[in-house]
Amino acid sequence: MPRHLTVERGAGGVKRSRAKCASLTNLQVRGNVSSIDKVNGADMFTDYDDITERIAEPPKWWDEYGVPRYAEYGPYQLANIYAQETALVEIACSACWRHFEVAFSIPGAALQETIGKCGSLAEAIQKGEVHYGDPPNYGNCRDGASMGCYDIRVLQYWSRANEKHSWLRDSRLEIELPDAREMRRLEVEKIVVNFPDIRGRQQIS
Ligand SMILES: [Zn+2]
Repeated sequence: MPRHLTVERGAGGVKRSRAKCASLTNLQVRGNVSSIDKVNGADMFTDYDDITERIAEPPKWWDEYGVPRYAEYGPYQLANIYAQETALVEIACSACWRHFEVAFSIPGAALQETIGKCGSLAEAIQKGEVHYGDPPNYGNCRDGASMGCYDIRVLQYWSRANEKHSWLRDSRLEIELPDAREMRRLEVEKIVVNFPDIRGRQQIS
């Protein structure tokens, strides 16, 4: 089964993507929160407009709880002070395709589900099993708060699982994730929809 992507034809004939996969939802089940609660929006982030409306510049990144952050990302800026691993990941809202840079960290009570059954964030990155879930609730996206996201690429990876317990960056894990390819395919699809004669030319050749 395709992991979590379908393409729908929305109002006005414009195709758009939607995230709606049972397997993705299962990965995000937290404690006794059921996947039905997820559908009802239990995992959506609040919009934190009490913060964003008081600060003129846009946030640089978003933490593990979808909170807007304005300093440079780094392991000491995480919400989770017990983190042993962290990554900054580029994602895109599955409704409007707006890009965000978001943080992952483990271990953490509410956060392990973001890496599925993997034993570490590093393993999840290598297996393409890193899932942020709903994107940050920002930018007046009509659907994005509950729409899931594309997990595109790892921008930074840090671990303190070493003898000195100090944060070390490992660029070998700063790689593209499986959704990147799907995102490119959808971008081409969008161009084809907007310029139907391209499809005609493809069929002739
Ligand atoms: Zn959006």
